[in-house]
Amino acid sequence: MENCIFCKIIAGDIPSSKVYEDKDWYAFKDIEPCAPVHILVVPKKHVKSIMEMTNEGNPEFQNFFPTIKHIATEAGLKDKGFRLVVNTGEKAGQTVFHFHAHIIGGKDMGWPPFPEEAK
Ligand code: 5GP
Ligand code: ZN
Repeated sequence: MENCIFCKIIAGDIPSSKVYEDKDWYAFKDIEPCAPVHILVVPKKHVKSIMEMTNEGNPEFQNFFPTIKHIATEAGLKDKGFRLVVNTGEKAGQTVFHFHAHIIGGKDMGWPPFPEEAK
């Protein structure tokens, strides 16, 4: 997809710190990490967000959770745990409109994630 920063990263036109790649998925370190481990996992085929997905159009998502498990394990998070975040839509904080899952971990994280006054 033209003018998509993550498509350009997948194509190698913009440099990234790759942590994993297979035929369907590409994973790299977030440029502004919010934890010791902050990895973005993106499908190689451009899809804007969860809201544009279909089973027929996006069969690679059948392997989504096993891929997350593999990447998180390789990142040393098997026992420490991690948070998986998928911001969907502008109001939810999505700023790059190529689906991506954030694997965030390596520190203790509170729950709920938002300050009381934000409710
Ligand atoms: P969103 O807010 O859409 O859920 O997350 C977008 C994420 O992409 C942000 O955490 C941001 O730091 C990251 N990001 C934006 N541009 C780049 C880039 O060029 N390289 C890398 N590695 N991460 C990026
Ligand atoms: Zn894209």
